Amino acid sequence: MPRFRKRPVVIEAILWSGDNYDEVMAFTKGNAGNFTDLRDDTIIIKTLEGDSPPVKKGTWIIKGVEGEFYPCDARILDKTYDRVPEKCPACGRNKPEPTHPDFLCMTCIRNP
Ligand SMILES: [Zn+2]
Repeated sequence: MPRFRKRPVVIEAILWSGDNYDEVMAFTKGNAGNFTDLRDDTIIIKTLEGDSPPVKKGTWIIKGVEGEFYPCDARILDKTYDRVPEKCPACGRNKPEPTHPDFLCMTCIRNP
């Protein structure tokens, strides 16, 4: 049986907090909505496969590699993604390379 390893892809995501509707709408370029028959703290995401089921607050909305949007349970995001730190963990100064296994910056990668 052939085996596969997921490539390190970098995605952007926003956490649906239940009250950041405008932020989620801006992030998804309008591919989100809520409807009056849903509880106030749920949102619908327009995904490649159509409208998502109601998304509960505390769920991440991911922008995928094709620019598509989809909800992702916080527990699943935790298991499958590492959060890219703001700064390189070695020098604490530069922006990390998001695909480097240790998130080093280009300077620290070139001068180990
Ligand atoms: Zn560095």
